[in-house]
Amino acid sequence: MTLSDAPKTNLLNFSLEGLKTFYADIGEPAFRATQTFKWIHQAGVDDFNAMTNLSKPLRQQLAERVEIRAPEIVLDQPSVDGTHKWLLRLDDGQCIETVFIPEDGRGTLCISSQVGCALDCTFCATARQGFNRNLTVAEIIGQVWLAERLLKPASGHRAITNVVFMGMGEPLLNLDAVVDAMHIMLDDNAYGLSKRRVTLSTSGVIPALDRLSERADVALAVSLHAPNDALRNRLVPLNKKYPIAELMAACKRYLANKAQRERVTFEYVMIQGVNDSPDHATQLAKLLQEVPAKVNLIPFNSFSGTEYKRSSKAAINRFRDILLAQNIYTITRKTRGDDIDAACGQLAGEVQDKSRRKLHFARLEQSL
Ligand code: SAH
Repeated sequence: MTLSDAPKTNLLNFSLEGLKTFYADIGEPAFRATQTFKWIHQAGVDDFNAMTNLSKPLRQQLAERVEIRAPEIVLDQPSVDGTHKWLLRLDDGQCIETVFIPEDGRGTLCISSQVGCALDCTFCATARQGFNRNLTVAEIIGQVWLAERLLKPASGHRAITNVVFMGMGEPLLNLDAVVDAMHIMLDDNAYGLSKRRVTLSTSGVIPALDRLSERADVALAVSLHAPNDALRNRLVPLNKKYPIAELMAACKRYLANKAQRERVTFEYVMIQGVNDSPDHATQLAKLLQEVPAKVNLIPFNSFSGTEYKRSSKAAINRFRDILLAQNIYTITRKTRGDDIDAACGQLAGEVQDKSRRKLHFARLEQSL
């Protein structure tokens, strides 16, 4: 292999510290790292020639040896409600999805952390795709870099004010890359997002949650979906390994580790006749007495091949009112972007499945 066809180092993989080490290795001072980092993440630049405060020889050297490369946009689907969904192709040809959701005064980017998902939650479209691999730091932060570049308004203000790890994958099963990417999001020399506005959502991988607590300070959302182990084992099979009582204890540890962490958001997808009865709400209210909590009720979003149905509005309101009566702050999430299959649990991408699960579901659908 000659030097010119060796794969180039992608600078999107580097935190500011990583970039400093890279520059030290080529004999450049640390402030070059800060300059370059700002060009990449604040200005959204991928052309070294545009980095006008770097010397010409350095720019040339960078262009020869390294690159700034996000995943490639295959499809950009705007929804009637202002939501955007992008299908992004990775170097190995697989695709992931990223969703932007504008709301009054804020813009939330919902990003993926893995190609597919290794968990097998029965109500989630991503689960049916099976699992292939973890995303790299460049592939994770690349979603933010791309969206900000495309959406940044002429005013120069940031389009993205919030990031949620609620796209494809279980972020705690890709902890190292997710933590590095989060540090870039929070860095004032990059996106400068507030730590309350970066949310990691997990099904509850307890040992990794404890490690996250030590390594990053971000908001936590837990996909609960059921108030007792028997039902949660069915909906979120990971519960068999990490049952509810242990998960609640881990949430308390997460909050206790930093004084500013105020509460955990619990996500609860509302599925008709499965987890939406008044009795379920009462059980949930009792469970959440011990942890400072906010509840997000998510009306179930359908996808092809699922037998589940969305709870009725009346059932969702009744459920919410029971929680509110117990002083548990509860909101019903508005369903956004469902005309483009961009709503929660509808992200499917294109995954070369390694777990054979996709085949299993294809056979199942055929036999119906
Ligand atoms: N693996 C992580 C992040 C991805 S899921 C986690 O489990 O939290 C992001 C959110 O969408 C989770 O709360 C998930 O349970 C919810 N979700 C999945 N499928 C859904 C569906 N069909 N309808 C509504 N919400 C869904």
